[in-house]
Amino acid sequence: MILDFIRPKLYAQGISHIDPFALRARGIRGAIVDLDNTLVGFRTLAPLEEDARWVARAKEAGVRVVVLTNNGTPWALEIAKDLDVPCIPNARKPLPAGFRRALQLLQLAAHEAVVIGDQLFTDVLGAKLAGLDVILVDPLVRHDPWNTRPLRWVEQLLLRGVPRA
Ligand SMILES: [Mg+2]
Repeated sequence: MILDFIRPKLYAQGISHIDPFALRARGIRGAIVDLDNTLVGFRTLAPLEEDARWVARAKEAGVRVVVLTNNGTPWALEIAKDLDVPCIPNARKPLPAGFRRALQLLQLAAHEAVVIGDQLFTDVLGAKLAGLDVILVDPLVRHDPWNTRPLRWVEQLLLRGVPRA
């Protein structure tokens, strides 16, 4: 069914609520992570300490991180540089090409990686088109750019019954 393409398998309140050691225990060796409102709140300048710490913990756990973002500003690259992770900007999610590039960069097969993001129509749909598992997180900041607001209503409807990470 078409809905299966925009429903995530797992949901977490935020990226800092996901245990990278548990991911690694499930055979996950790479995380393809959205930037805006997943790692860094919309219109904030730097990641929260707990979210920056998550990136460090993922590395400790043996889960390599790559940032995959539709954001194409120098800011996106700077944040990734500060976090010491590679970044693919202008990713044009949900198109699957960016996800495939991320897998190449991680040198992993699709079943060894997971996508983490806050939007059904970019992160979740794109991950599924690329054959990847995905964990949906709540957006860090509820103030979205005008063009993503209407979709949030649809997202709430679709999320009923999705288990937590
Ligand atoms: Mg986002």
